[in-house]
Amino acid sequence: MSTINKEEWLRDIEKRVSVDFFKTLSEASLEELHYVFSREALGLLKNNWTQTSNHWNKEKAKMAYYFSAEFLMGRWLSNALINMNLYEEAGDAAKKLGIDMNALEEAETDAGLGNGGLGRLAACFLDSLATGNYPSMGYGIRYKYGMFEQKIINGYQVEKPDNWLVHGDVASIKRPDEAVEVKFWGRVAIEKDHNNKNYYHLYDYESIIAVPYDLPVPGYGTSTVLTLRLWQASSPDGFDLDLFQAGEYSRAVSKETQAENISRVLYPNDNTVGGKQLRLRQQYFFVAAGLADLIRRFKKQWGTDFSKLPDAVAIQLNDTHPVVAIPELMRILVDEEHLDWDTAWGICIRVFAYTNHTLLAEALEKWPINIFAPLLPRIYQVIEEINRRFLHFLHQKFPGDWQKHKEMEIINDGVIKMAWLAIVGSHSINGVAQLHTDLLKTQELKMWYELFPEKFNNKTNGVTQRRWLLKANPALANFITTRIGDGWITNLDELSKLEQFASDPKAQEEFMAIKLKDKQLLAKYIQQHNNIKVNTSSIFDVQIKRLHEYKRQLLNALHIIYLYQRIKSDPNYHVTPRTFIFGAKAASGYHMAKLIIRLINAVADVVNHDPVVSDKIKVVFLENYRVSLAEKIIPASDVSEQISTAGYEASGTGNMKFMMNGAITLGTLDGANVEIAELVGRENSVIFGLTADEVNAQKMSYNPHQVLAQDPEIAAVVEALHDPIFASENVHMFEPIYQSLLYGVDGNPPDKYMVLKDFRSYINAQKQVEALYADEKNWAKMMLINIARSGKFSSDRTIKQYAEEIWDIKPYPPKK
Ligand SMILES: *Cc1c(COP(=O)(O)O)cnc(C)c1O
Repeated sequence: MSTINKEEWLRDIEKRVSVDFFKTLSEASLEELHYVFSREALGLLKNNWTQTSNHWNKEKAKMAYYFSAEFLMGRWLSNALINMNLYEEAGDAAKKLGIDMNALEEAETDAGLGNGGLGRLAACFLDSLATGNYPSMGYGIRYKYGMFEQKIINGYQVEKPDNWLVHGDVASIKRPDEAVEVKFWGRVAIEKDHNNKNYYHLYDYESIIAVPYDLPVPGYGTSTVLTLRLWQASSPDGFDLDLFQAGEYSRAVSKETQAENISRVLYPNDNTVGGKQLRLRQQYFFVAAGLADLIRRFKKQWGTDFSKLPDAVAIQLNDTHPVVAIPELMRILVDEEHLDWDTAWGICIRVFAYTNHTLLAEALEKWPINIFAPLLPRIYQVIEEINRRFLHFLHQKFPGDWQKHKEMEIINDGVIKMAWLAIVGSHSINGVAQLHTDLLKTQELKMWYELFPEKFNNKTNGVTQRRWLLKANPALANFITTRIGDGWITNLDELSKLEQFASDPKAQEEFMAIKLKDKQLLAKYIQQHNNIKVNTSSIFDVQIKRLHEYKRQLLNALHIIYLYQRIKSDPNYHVTPRTFIFGAKAASGYHMAKLIIRLINAVADVVNHDPVVSDKIKVVFLENYRVSLAEKIIPASDVSEQISTAGYEASGTGNMKFMMNGAITLGTLDGANVEIAELVGRENSVIFGLTADEVNAQKMSYNPHQVLAQDPEIAAVVEALHDPIFASENVHMFEPIYQSLLYGVDGNPPDKYMVLKDFRSYINAQKQVEALYADEKNWAKMMLINIARSGKFSSDRTIKQYAEEIWDIKPYPPKK
């Protein structure tokens, strides 16, 4: 491990402030100090970083490449320092400058280059890959603007651009020497070579330059540093001098602007796709750049013997966003490297693996041919050929089964089905939790499972304990290490040793004191940001995740209305004091989701200002939910709300972060909640609602009006959506929510996500939470058991399974 000389560090910091900003230490802003601290840390990583890639190159280690349109990295500096084992020393150095590390950390803007779980999974995976010394690399897009910044104004979400690079790029290195050309549009011409074989060339294309920016990801307790390579788009010829000289400035630069638009902004949709041309441009842009880059690296090591490619390279496709990599690699192998089709196809299948992340139909990418074909004419031809050969295979396998052929065709009905292309072109298809994989096999992808059973496998998601426990909750980390040593930091299964302390009164007491301190810290944040005073002995009941109807924040909000009505009708009605905490961004075009945010804020307004109610319950909506905010909220949580309609949440990873920090899961049997409940048992979790099978069986016959007819309390809650107490602007403001629950909107069935169906069961589950919380000793024990049994949910375990079961790669620890 690297160490630093503190005096030297301080001198360097001072020098950098002077060189980079022409300022003295005392004149520098926190952002500037953060920048120089980061660049200083980067300098300390430099040797390990180059040694890592040199080592892997020299050993010709097989590499895993993680292709993802999203990497939700959060803050870099403190995480890097912790992994480098320099956090305390850097903190001391900062103190000598009269600043505390905390303030320095808070000056860093999150790298929010992702929407939610899928992007954060990619970030956790990089941490586990580096820590596990796996030869690997990430490829993605360097969006100029990441996930929008959310403001809440008069209860409504307002989006602001996320200008995350405004204070400089703290940790990455631009490498223009390794830029790659990516071609769009154009026309395909067939030419013959000297063997009279046909080859395809693209003419009159638009050329875009992909410039790589490399972000180092240091592993914990190892000198391995891996690279996240993010591509930024630029124009090859800058601006048009002729137009400039003719005084047409905006036209002169428009070409450059258009090129740069490709990496301008992250699409803020989680679990839905828009089918916009620019999004397809983004996808092909980073995929083509990444492939060109790794082929270049392969050739340096192996020459042009492409039969070796599957021994040197594994590529994981994070959802369908990078699936255009399959025809792109075919294009490279056939058109540029002149392999015959069958050989190239065999190589492709061995190289690619695909992760499915969703059971929602609206999230499955389908590109209309009229968008795809003109933009990527040669890639479209390649997909047509893949489809033609696959159809031939289907005809032989299922002669005359036209219905099946139609359903499984990659190109059908004017669209290209990217998930189908992924399945046909990969050797591995994995779901992200056991239930999800089972549902893929038996429902969504049943026909594919029947055709290729050997391709299907499960890889239950995980999260990195370095960020979500060690960094986010240092007091709890210390509590654990004091008792069982620090082996859990790189082997989370060791947390099971904590279980012997679950019933120990001293450990319980100490743990509850830590929980209280964490709650006090969050209470302070809430006071500062929302001007709400919360009771730190109340239950901190938290739902933080993207706002989506299937995640059912609405169920949570309606339950709070229910509690409000109960207390109002009977001021002696007993409730355990509770603080309901929400954090969620809604996609900017998702009106229902935005209206649910408005409803939560309306409920908060009423509840928090009602003297009869506000001593008992408080409602807090924390704006701009993001990684660094999650790090503050999760340690302070008592209850983890994971209440999606069963069968809709593929895995969830928030649920795992909460469990690691002791929160009790209040959830449906959905995604990884199933595995959490299995591990801790029903006595250490609170499970409610329909199962996925029951949801499936009742979908068609379900009628929410019957629920209301049988349960007047629930009917009264639904009527409150029209009550001017909540609908304070006008009584119709929440009409779309009311309509969606009782009649269905936008072609959906009434109450598609069965909020009302599960409502009574949820009310009862919430009562059970209160009863459990009342027994403080048992509650502490439950929390400790949750922590002790969370070992499975380390992304280290997930990555080991990918490495062994899909990629066939081995760790290459650094040489001593
Ligand atoms: C973990 C995480 C998510 C995923 O949360 P789920 O509850 O699994 O949907 C989303 N956003 C951020 C910022 C996260 O850290």
